[in-house]
Amino acid sequence: MKQMHMRILSNQQVSDRYWHMVVDAAGLDAEVMPGQFFNIRCSGETYPLLRRPFSIYRINRNERTLEFLYLVKGLGTKRLTERKAGETVDIFGPLGRSFELQDGWKTVLLVARGVGIATLTALAQDAAEKGIRAAAILSARSRNDLLAAETLQGFGAHVYKVTEENGNSDVESVHRLIEQILAEHKIDAAFTCGSKRLSRLLRDVTASRGIPAQIALEEHMGCAMGVCFACVCDVREGEALKTVRVCKEGPVFPLEKVVLA
Ligand SMILES: Cc1cc2nc3c(=O)[nH]c(=O)nc-3n(C[C@H](O)[C@H](O)[C@H](O)COP(=O)(O)OP(=O)(O)OC[C@H]3O[C@@H](n4cnc5c(N)ncnc54)[C@H](O)[C@@H]3O)c2cc1C
Repeated sequence: MKQMHMRILSNQQVSDRYWHMVVDAAGLDAEVMPGQFFNIRCSGETYPLLRRPFSIYRINRNERTLEFLYLVKGLGTKRLTERKAGETVDIFGPLGRSFELQDGWKTVLLVARGVGIATLTALAQDAAEKGIRAAAILSARSRNDLLAAETLQGFGAHVYKVTEENGNSDVESVHRLIEQILAEHKIDAAFTCGSKRLSRLLRDVTASRGIPAQIALEEHMGCAMGVCFACVCDVREGEALKTVRVCKEGPVFPLEKVVLA
């Protein structure tokens, strides 16, 4: 991990609530893996003081650029939208544990909700590069928020869109969709990010079939370096519960181990 000032190549609004930022990562010598994140100083001002964590959305190894897809939530992300191409942004990373794709896997299932779509897009990119196909359920409030659908299709993913707008994003409907996908494809592993409800559903479905599954957690973070313990969660270790830091031991965990409160 490294703190760097990366040049912003573009920072554009892509829907009502989402922005897309591309930075020049030529000076970054560390390998970036899907599921990892960067802690970004959103503004040059003292407030907000803390950096904000963002998953890597796309890793362009040839162009040596990194892409982030972010939802405008509060002051930090609002300040980030004000950053212009040509300016530099103070970025710290890559941080955390990445998703793992095993040799021999042929098809994986991705279940993403909201901004979790950003996190799983990098995984779909990596899977495509390894010759692994992805079936991706993208869930969002509205069709406008399903930004990454085309990007995922570009990686060869079979995309299933569900939204509140269309009335098909409730747990029961997504459950039926997962069952349909499992009947149509031999799924070797599953991955999720962005919704505790859908993560619990995916955990139950994958556990009953013995399909390995991983989750990327998004918790409020302070330092993102494992020092402040602001982002802890509980994981099962045998019969016991262990408290771990999402920034350091995660954000990616085996799905069956995480206590999804
Ligand atoms: C590992 C990781 C990866 C992430 N990747 C992305 C990404 O790729 N794209 C993206 O848009 N967002 C991502 N997030 C979430 C993003 O960090 C927060 O939305 C951002 O920090 C909000 O900052 P803010 O100053 O705009 O809002 P704040 O003023 O800090 O918060 C606004 C509201 O959002 C809530 N909130 C803030 N952070 C979180 C959080 N981590 N979890 C749940 N609720 C929160 C606050 O309680 C408050 O209600 C990620 C978070 C983590 C931990």
